Amino acid sequence: MKNLILIPVIFIFSILVFSTPVHPKTKFITIGTGGLTGVYYPTGGAIAKIINKKRKEYGIRCTVKSTDGSVYNVDAVIEGELDFGIVQSDRQHQAIRGIADWKDKGPRKNLRAVFSIYHESCCLLAAVDAGINSIEDLKGKRVCLGNYGSGHLGNSSDVLKAIGINPDTDIIARYIEPVQAPGLLQDGKIDAFFYTVGHPSGALKEATAGARKVKFIPIIGGEIDKLVEGRPYCSKIVIPINYYPGAANTQDVPTFGVCATLVTSSKVPDKVVYAVTKAIFENFESFKKLHPAYTLITKASMLECLSAPIHSGAMKYYKEAGLK
Ligand code: GLU
Repeated sequence: MKNLILIPVIFIFSILVFSTPVHPKTKFITIGTGGLTGVYYPTGGAIAKIINKKRKEYGIRCTVKSTDGSVYNVDAVIEGELDFGIVQSDRQHQAIRGIADWKDKGPRKNLRAVFSIYHESCCLLAAVDAGINSIEDLKGKRVCLGNYGSGHLGNSSDVLKAIGINPDTDIIARYIEPVQAPGLLQDGKIDAFFYTVGHPSGALKEATAGARKVKFIPIIGGEIDKLVEGRPYCSKIVIPINYYPGAANTQDVPTFGVCATLVTSSKVPDKVVYAVTKAIFENFESFKKLHPAYTLITKASMLECLSAPIHSGAMKYYKEAGLK
């Protein structure tokens, strides 16, 4: 009987004594990312890892949320549902100006850039047996263009528009999340899917590792050049094929790409954005080791590709560090 009383008492006592004390002024922040098999999600995890390690210094605890992607993240940051979000650089440009997905909603004037992280490429993956060798061959095929709220849905729509393919009448369009698209491709339910993502990505690995042979289709041509020209947040890049040994390609695949950037709202306090920026820049080498997509990044490249005004808290750090 005595033991029955003692056990819960000891249990509660241990929780009180041994659990990590939460600093009374600890600020909890959330970063919006993307699907579980993309690179935004592990990137949110990498940022959180660095920040949480330094929580005594900065008084910040960071958690990561899987979301629909860039468009969702911009809106959730503006509405105060998220403190930070990872967003494609082309989406950052459109949101601050009130174009594309923000044409009806209006410019997201409070959107602020924090830093750029790595390059993402617009990928088109097709089953070899579907007979798709170029973007023009998508006509009549079952193509997943991306989920609503994602950044890549805008890229796939731009590509189709540029080459005169109407998604409503010329293809059988699907709007499914990248976490499901590889399975649908392997099961023969779709012929191809678009995904704008960094490398290596779990979704692309899964799609290229199955029994149905799959290949990356180059996204090239005069019309694509026009999509990229004069847009500093967009560039021509290649998909590094070494990350996807199961793909039927033998060489890197040319396409266009954007940058994955971290954004916040002007309403998030300077102190918080300063701390997040400082934590990543002052632990840059440890951060770089957390994902192969960061191999080529430099502190200088993290200040490129930004269209929204830089948040004043981040700017304070860049000035102090002599980066601006
Ligand atoms: N670029 C995609 C988007 O903006 C997400 C990619 C990822 O999750 O890594 O929706």
